[in-house]
Amino acid sequence: MHRDPADPSPILSATRGAADVAASPVRPACAGPRVHLVGAGPGAADLLTVRAARLLAQADIVLHDALVPAEILALAGHARIVAVGKRSGRPSSAQSFINKQLIDAARRYAVVVRLKGGDPMLFGRAQEEIDALVREGIAVEIVPGISAAFGAAASVQQSLTQRGVARSVMLLTPAVGKGETGHDWATPAVAADTAVLYMAGRQAGAIAAGLMAAGVAGSRAAVIVENATLGARERILVTCVSQLEAQAARLGDGPALILLGDVFANLQQRADIAAHLGLATHRVA
Ligand code: SAH
Repeated sequence: MHRDPADPSPILSATRGAADVAASPVRPACAGPRVHLVGAGPGAADLLTVRAARLLAQADIVLHDALVPAEILALAGHARIVAVGKRSGRPSSAQSFINKQLIDAARRYAVVVRLKGGDPMLFGRAQEEIDALVREGIAVEIVPGISAAFGAAASVQQSLTQRGVARSVMLLTPAVGKGETGHDWATPAVAADTAVLYMAGRQAGAIAAGLMAAGVAGSRAAVIVENATLGARERILVTCVSQLEAQAARLGDGPALILLGDVFANLQQRADIAAHLGLATHRVA
């Protein structure tokens, strides 16, 4: 499909039919209200998708989570920037208030971007926002992002799957929201060859205890990755389940994942990676 190079309009027009072109965000006269739910990736600004960067450049308002870095927000050159982030243990906006802010923004602004860390469809309460917008007759477009699990796998230079070792990957969180009852996260974590635990850094002791109660050996390989893809702030701790709590005590206050599985067992033996990660002192028990 040939596009007019002077036409700044969407992204969406390249891949969708004529009806979508008519509803493109840069033609507010024809457009109904619309919100772009956009993944910001794991942290590094250049891990944003091209589509996300183009939408940010067009945005009139950006409502973003706490984890989205300033370099990415800077791409929204003329937009009003509104922080609506929730971070556990910190003051936060209630989800219903965020939903209302999105609805109001969609009615007032032509190009509305709701920016979430990683991929918007994973542990980001995207469904509540989608449902609230659709109920109000507001269209939603989703732009995927690189989830933290994949940023972390890249940082530790270890594939989450590996022939003969791991053919299943579980993305899960032991965290529960306010008012929710606990859930059995350990059974799926144990059942998968590789498990990636989100929102896990600050609960490492309870996680280790839960895993061992579910039958996981204390010697099972585990890696904690804080601030994955964020350059000098990134921290990688290669350890084992029984040492998770002690290692997690070394974390700063950045977002962290716990990775579990046999694929990580050889990480410390790989001299190239060990040098890169500064692993000299921690050996898997
Ligand atoms: N939608 C996001 C996840 C949001 S939940 C995604 O797809 O990545 C927030 C959790 O993601 C954090 O508590 C942490 O476990 C993880 N996380 C996000 N960014 C991270 C990063 N740069 N490094 C390590 N973990 C990260």
